[in-house]
Amino acid sequence: MSKYSILFLFTVLFMFSCKNSNEKIEQVQKQEITLYTHRHYESDKVVFEKFEQETGIKINVVKASADELIQKLESEGKQSPADLLLTVDAGRLVRAKNKGLLQSVDSKVLISTIPSYLRDQENKWFGLTKRARIIAYSKERVKPEELTTYEALTESKWEKKILIRSSSNIYNQSLLASIIANNGKTEAKTWAEGIVKNFARVPKGNDRDQIKAILAAEGDLAIVNTYYIGKLLNSKDLVEVNAANAVGLFFPNQDDRGTHINISGIGLTKHAPNKANAIKFMEYLVSKEVQEIFAEANYEYPVNASANTSTLLSSWGSFKEDNLSLTKLGELNKAAVITFDEVAWDKGPNAQ
Ligand code: FE
Repeated sequence: MSKYSILFLFTVLFMFSCKNSNEKIEQVQKQEITLYTHRHYESDKVVFEKFEQETGIKINVVKASADELIQKLESEGKQSPADLLLTVDAGRLVRAKNKGLLQSVDSKVLISTIPSYLRDQENKWFGLTKRARIIAYSKERVKPEELTTYEALTESKWEKKILIRSSSNIYNQSLLASIIANNGKTEAKTWAEGIVKNFARVPKGNDRDQIKAILAAEGDLAIVNTYYIGKLLNSKDLVEVNAANAVGLFFPNQDDRGTHINISGIGLTKHAPNKANAIKFMEYLVSKEVQEIFAEANYEYPVNASANTSTLLSSWGSFKEDNLSLTKLGELNKAAVITFDEVAWDKGPNAQ
């Protein structure tokens, strides 16, 4: 080899190494992920900042309602900057999956930490925190010994006593889907009919409004998610605090399948530009310490069994949960919506 060709070789090698280090610098600078979330709690910010400090990965947070975020992902397609979708209710996550908006994640951490019924069977979404759909009862007018199951709420003794929101709500759709999965379509329809017969009023308002209606003596029993009791207890509005204090929590179906639960969950988007870092963040969210902060922020239960449940939720007692695979709730969503229509749920007790 001549003197010149050796010099040439070194020059090429030098240029190549410069290019590589430039690329590395660029990669370090691009350490970021974009999170589409419907959650809007101050404590989430604490978790995000802690992750940013520990890893140097910046989180771009885009907040909107779950349905808006799903629509946004759909319209953005391959151009979407989103890496992750964080939302509530397995029904919605199944919907996002079925629209082809999510991709499988191969993570030993996620799979070993999250029980299989709380995640998608193809690992396209994962539960992060749990909530139970329970019976809130008037402490003044109902004894908890009178309560047993969701099914028993159709008994005539509860006529004009039951408060629950409309059928357009995903929480109710998922509850009915769980009843279809457990008892079959025919029995589930009979159940829905029986509940309508016992309505205290035409369904209106959200879960909080049902609890407030117990305080106002419009009805005696409300079917609501657990975390709303926590929200009301910590409200600045005294009426809301009084409403929460007026009710007891009953976890139905403890002698059979357990109480219906649902999740707040996360999925990796189909076209995630920052896949590796996004998975790092998902794994971070299920670590013991973060689970405790994340669950407590919305008065929910952690999915990581080694994480402690908050003092308030522990005071409600432990309970047996229905460990039906949450995927089923999405699969049976349509059947639930049809059943609600068939029993004229939203027209109220006098329509039948
Ligand atoms: Fe909610």
